[in-house]
Amino acid sequence: MEPTRPPSVDSLARSLADSGLPHPLLVQVARLAIELGQYSPDEAERLVEQRRRQLLQPVINATGVLLHTNLGRAPTGVSLVPRFANLELDLSTGQRGSRQAHVGALFAELCGAEAAIVVNNCAAAVTLALAALAEGRGVAVSRSELVEIGGGFRVPEVMEQSGAQLVGVGTTNRTRVADFEKAVANADADIAVALQVHQSNYKIVGFTEQVRTAELADLDVPVIADIGSGLLDAACPWLPGGPPAWLADEPAARQTLEAGADLITFSGDKLLGGPQAGIIAGSAELVERCSRHPLARAVRPGGLVLAALQDVALAYLDRNLAALPFWSMATRSLAELQAAAEALATAIDHPSARVSETIAVPGGGTLPTVEIGSWGIAIDGDITEPLRSATPPIIGRVTDQTTFLDMRTIDPASSGDAWPDSAVLTHVAAAAKGAISR
Ligand SMILES: *Cc1c(COP(=O)(O)O)cnc(C)c1O
Repeated sequence: MEPTRPPSVDSLARSLADSGLPHPLLVQVARLAIELGQYSPDEAERLVEQRRRQLLQPVINATGVLLHTNLGRAPTGVSLVPRFANLELDLSTGQRGSRQAHVGALFAELCGAEAAIVVNNCAAAVTLALAALAEGRGVAVSRSELVEIGGGFRVPEVMEQSGAQLVGVGTTNRTRVADFEKAVANADADIAVALQVHQSNYKIVGFTEQVRTAELADLDVPVIADIGSGLLDAACPWLPGGPPAWLADEPAARQTLEAGADLITFSGDKLLGGPQAGIIAGSAELVERCSRHPLARAVRPGGLVLAALQDVALAYLDRNLAALPFWSMATRSLAELQAAAEALATAIDHPSARVSETIAVPGGGTLPTVEIGSWGIAIDGDITEPLRSATPPIIGRVTDQTTFLDMRTIDPASSGDAWPDSAVLTHVAAAAKGAISR
């Protein structure tokens, strides 16, 4: 038989119009299809699907990792209706205002700080704070805190970027306040600030000694504490049951400032549970120096991030747990998780899918040793690939040739009686059933 002649790029692209992808993307797909010799209708549609999968899209997190780095850490959402906002307009005077005013004031209130500003992420917050307060001068840091944290945030490199000089004090396992005092007293070191960096994603155990923020408060230089995760208050007033036991050693914004830190920095998308952002809070004078530094312009957040972050801040102020998906996921009861797992198993209705106890983790470079008990479904074999190709994709976890779908993270959006959303359950059940019987 004669091999069929390839169609023209244009006619193939037009034949794929029903997919809903914009024409220029379909032209790319059509070119690829012809190049690969895969231009039959079925083959071309498969390539269209492949292209669609490269777009940013919602996924179902069934991994049990609450802050999954590959899934954007904390779940967030914004309304995509285009609209204007008073981003830099003071509605009371009609004059130009600051984009930092709205959300900054809410975070100052939440942390018990005089002032706060928002930047793009915590790495930017630390870089900006050091540049504003210590450019060309020394920064004293414990050698036990010269760490690398998620996404290549390395303290020595951040220091270099900020133009400050790193002055390591103490040793890898033990640092005392006297080590900081000695550095500050040394005129050659020209120490401008002392920096504390929370060892977010690792632990030093054994013969160790660390300096508490309260001990640094008496130094003659300001103290910056990079607390990282964005736990706002150790008492967790937004949780009806108070703080969970696994939160015990996590530094909190309010308490770190009360202990005497002059500035704190933290991420928006870790335990805070908001969009990617970095927050600098503390003394009004030091926050002002940060906002005046030229780097502040390069790391300022956009209106979408500020809008999402404002929603998060208002939910905390309202103590509205249902509007804080990270904390809803983290504190959901085992009974509720087990009941949801049973409902899912019933819906899958296949002998190789059974209800199972599971272990969820905070993730996202926080609380490295914490495990949170959970319930889910265990399915024989590795079916993660077909689950990933569902729409929306479902991301599961494999251990020992068993696929686990953890209920704790499966539906961060709904809450209360409506959890988990029945559409989510139905979708996961259908996809799992299809994947098992392949
Ligand atoms: C996670 C973390 C950072 C980096 O935060 P990003 O928001 O990812 O830039 C910096 N410092 C500490 C202590 C952290 O835990």
